[in-house]
Amino acid sequence: MPRGVVPRQPARSGRQDKVRVGRTLLSAKSVQKLSAGGKDAHVGTGALASQPRGKSRGPSQGKASMADPKRRQTASGKPALVSKVKGYNPLAPGRVAEILARLDLLYPEVTCALTHSSAWELLVATILSAQSTDVNVNRVTPELFRKYPTVEALAALTPEQLEPDVRSTGFFRNKSKSVVGAAKKIVSDFGGQVPDDMEKLLTLPGVARKTANVVLGSWFKKAEGVVVDTHVHRISRRLELTQQNDPQKIEQDLMRVIPREKWILFSHQIIWHGRKLCIARKPKCVDCPLENLCHAADKTWSTVEMHKEAKA
Ligand code: SF4
Repeated sequence: MPRGVVPRQPARSGRQDKVRVGRTLLSAKSVQKLSAGGKDAHVGTGALASQPRGKSRGPSQGKASMADPKRRQTASGKPALVSKVKGYNPLAPGRVAEILARLDLLYPEVTCALTHSSAWELLVATILSAQSTDVNVNRVTPELFRKYPTVEALAALTPEQLEPDVRSTGFFRNKSKSVVGAAKKIVSDFGGQVPDDMEKLLTLPGVARKTANVVLGSWFKKAEGVVVDTHVHRISRRLELTQQNDPQKIEQDLMRVIPREKWILFSHQIIWHGRKLCIARKPKCVDCPLENLCHAADKTWSTVEMHKEAKA
């Protein structure tokens, strides 16, 4: 060996045995424990991502990344809606059941707030309720049905003739067209009777799934879907029962997590909740019995962590 060249010795400090993970210097033993998912590992798995390139990852590391809640998937293969908080799943059956139980206590026997005495009256009232309040519609419909007591009477009108009667509900031109168009179709295709079938209802002018679900659920007592109006839309998102914005997708999500026998009552309860407590701009969270189950980002008072993606 040439003079002056000293064989490499282990450093007394043992530094070369350690691995820098972020700002932390870990001994090889600690890294082994972390890789093995040891209970006493106190550095997050994220830190291991900064291991030097080329180091093979142990099988337990792969396991740890699959356990990452953000990576969980539903049976359909879509990413599940889960919190960043470990172990929290907003769609857990226990949580959903608790929400439903509290709604039952809060709103035991709620029904549709639109005044009606037949399927036809309910259909018209629901068409008129778009972008309006139930109170407003209930002010208009008694006089409307006194003036035009049957489907045939309304089918005989032109939309322009109906406009003055529904003007105060807003969007009256479109609504007049829908009501008169639906009346004509019911007379011509369904013998003057409102059909109790989703497919047939959807053929009526101005009738989409929300209106059809109202008529089927509230009048015919048929649970074909969940009514998604503005309250159900807002509160389902706040309660993390869905992350969708499109009413049809929200309905599909709700149909997956709410038991079918609850579909009709659930939407009535949520609509009442939206009117009384979970108000759009300023929810009354301090008075809300769902408060400790709700992580909405726009809560006005909270005893639990708030989730920024849980918002109306
Ligand atoms: S706690 Fe507040 S935001 Fe959550 S459901 Fe109740 S009123 Fe709505």
